[in-house]
Amino acid sequence: MSTGNRSGMPGFLVDWAERMNGSHRKMGDYEFSVTETLKDPTAIILRRRHFNDIVNDLQDTADSNAGTAVHESIEADLKNAGWITEKEVSSVFKVLDGVEVEICGRLDAYDPTTGTLLDIKNTKIATYNKSASGDDDDWKHQLNIYRHLLIAEDPSWFMTVDEMKILARITDLSVVKEKMAGNSIDKWRLLPIEIESGTESIDKALATIAQVISMKDLSDEALPICSDKYRFATKTWKIYGFTKDGKPKAKAENGHASYQSLAEAEEGFKKAGFTENDHTIKEVGGESLRCRYYCDVKDFCPHYKKMMEAKNG
Ligand code: SF4
Repeated sequence: MSTGNRSGMPGFLVDWAERMNGSHRKMGDYEFSVTETLKDPTAIILRRRHFNDIVNDLQDTADSNAGTAVHESIEADLKNAGWITEKEVSSVFKVLDGVEVEICGRLDAYDPTTGTLLDIKNTKIATYNKSASGDDDDWKHQLNIYRHLLIAEDPSWFMTVDEMKILARITDLSVVKEKMAGNSIDKWRLLPIEIESGTESIDKALATIAQVISMKDLSDEALPICSDKYRFATKTWKIYGFTKDGKPKAKAENGHASYQSLAEAEEGFKKAGFTENDHTIKEVGGESLRCRYYCDVKDFCPHYKKMMEAKNG
């Protein structure tokens, strides 16, 4: 994995970006990071297989690298205040009839006084909202896996995790815009994360690892596409009329409008006074936002290539 510099920025910026990206290393075949287990198996396999060829341009990683710098700065203050920071944890588990795998991670910060486990995130508001509403459980799994690793490593360890929290810095909210609209917007947010009573999170991680191991010899082309949820897949619906022989017409009848949900399309259908005899609603595809904007292995992914070919005709 290397840092690209397509716009010819000064060398010190490349050095800084590489330092901020320093925690990215190629993992061993049976070694998995906690954050890696939150990905889909195909993304994990492609990243491991093409690791040395991945180029992250510093223009594309500007936000995440700035986030890492903020992260480091806060951790330094927490350390001075007596928190334990950047603690490495790992433990070995058995999957698939006895194959031993190691799950490892690094806790951002732990406060021995209050028993608080804290993870610092720089995140988009949509991601934050999905986690806060329970639509996405990645953060919950991540922190519960850390806690599980702590306990697996040393059950008698003096640390007791009494509460877990995400300290989120929202990166894409415009304070000026929101204030002009009369809204009060908090860019910093503290989100409590539920401590699970069982082993749901570690079980989910081990299931993902088992899939990676069982699929690791498949060619890139044979790997399954990542799930809709992982790809942040959006769907689109359109209303079509019929040709004389009863097939949906190639062109939409409602000014080519696309609807982002089936419910909206059905409402549009009703408002226009259409009936099932003269019109129909069809799902016409959509966009996989992670593939397009956030996946660093998209250049090696046959599914992404097919998506682009379909989009560009
Ligand atoms: S490009 Fe999309 S389908 Fe391919 S690995 Fe990335 S997220 Fe998965």
